[in-house]
Amino acid sequence: MYDVIIVGGGLAGLVNAILLARSGFEVALFEKNSYPFHRVCGEYISNEVKPFLIRNGLFPTDLNPTEISKFKLTSTNGKRAELPLKMGGFGFSRFAFDHFLFQQAQAAGVTILQNHKVTAIEFENDEFQIIANRQSYQSKLVIGAYGKRSMLDKSRKFMNKKSPYLGVKYHVKIDLPIDEIALHNFQNGYCGISQVENNTFNLCYLSHRDNLKNKSIDEMETTTLYENPFLKSIWDNADFVFEKPEVINEISFEKKELIHNHILMCGDTAGMITPLCGNGMAIAIRSAKLLSDLIILEWNKGNFNRHQIEEKYRMHWHQNFSSRLWTGRQIQKLFGSKWSSNLAVELIKNQWVGNGIIRLTHGHPF
Ligand SMILES: Cc1cc2nc3c(=O)[nH]c(=O)nc-3n(C[C@H](O)[C@H](O)[C@H](O)COP(=O)(O)OP(=O)(O)OC[C@H]3O[C@@H](n4cnc5c(N)ncnc54)[C@H](O)[C@@H]3O)c2cc1C
Repeated sequence: MYDVIIVGGGLAGLVNAILLARSGFEVALFEKNSYPFHRVCGEYISNEVKPFLIRNGLFPTDLNPTEISKFKLTSTNGKRAELPLKMGGFGFSRFAFDHFLFQQAQAAGVTILQNHKVTAIEFENDEFQIIANRQSYQSKLVIGAYGKRSMLDKSRKFMNKKSPYLGVKYHVKIDLPIDEIALHNFQNGYCGISQVENNTFNLCYLSHRDNLKNKSIDEMETTTLYENPFLKSIWDNADFVFEKPEVINEISFEKKELIHNHILMCGDTAGMITPLCGNGMAIAIRSAKLLSDLIILEWNKGNFNRHQIEEKYRMHWHQNFSSRLWTGRQIQKLFGSKWSSNLAVELIKNQWVGNGIIRLTHGHPF
């Protein structure tokens, strides 16, 4: 019997696990893969979470990240705007960052079950039963931190809507400014590029699946992405580190139920911000801090009250994240077509407007 079981070991799962275990909770974390591993992500982390990471010894200083302080946006036909970033950010590969957090979780005493895919979560008689690899585990609380979409979501409403987006990621070697993150539009999608560790750049895009109709990924890139001259130049000049890209399908930005069958959802499982905002990772980390702080506070009152935890989490999560996710969905409409991406470029040329939009999708550093 664990106090808390966490399903999914991305940023939300690992940060919850570390904070709870450091406060004396018996925590088990289930991850279907084994660390370290690559995942589709632009790997640009907003400085919103930097003070928290440093304060808690969760900032992998050895990776020596570059400060990213400039933003470049290009439209599908290659018009561009540049903007100094007020808050800025830094870049780590998820391969390295998640592995570092996994080690911190181990050190904090979390029981980590790798290669354990959770296939069922049942709630009965005020406790949970979790099934993974045909074994059963019990806990008082369950945190759902299994990312964008999973079979575990089959009874959640957002699953009724098919999601048309796929994500593709590469690591490349290329000669580009190291303090800049660029976002390049193409028809029905956009592609980010920024530096991670080891003088490597992350090249990652989100595309509508219509672009892939009767085409391979390669063909989609040469026909659709190459229409933006900046993207063609990147593909022409980059050395690709992976043999083949990391790809994920069915990325959903729909509203999700925050608490389902008493499972407390966190990170992307609670709701995913559109990637162009560049702060899904910050939201995953911040929502994990919010949730674990609340669990610690309520638990330490000595009289465990599930209803209190659920109600307070619902209230604080919506206060912190609902409007950011909504704004992200609206901004995404300015991407992926010629006229709208040119409009976005014109808007971003005005620094006041550009930084105003960024402010609406980011929180204050904490
Ligand atoms: C194309 C793209 C680009 C992006 N670029 C950026 C960016 O530049 N900056 C940024 O801040 N954010 C970006 N994001 C968003 C960011 O990747 C996510 O918001 C972040 O990874 C959320 O973390 P998480 O912990 O909630 O989920 P995840 O990181 O997805 O972790 C979920 C974990 O759960 C595990 N899991 C799933 N199902 C099970 C199961 N049944 N049993 C056990 N384990 C399970 C998975 O293996 C995974 O390790 C991007 C997203 C996409 C799609």
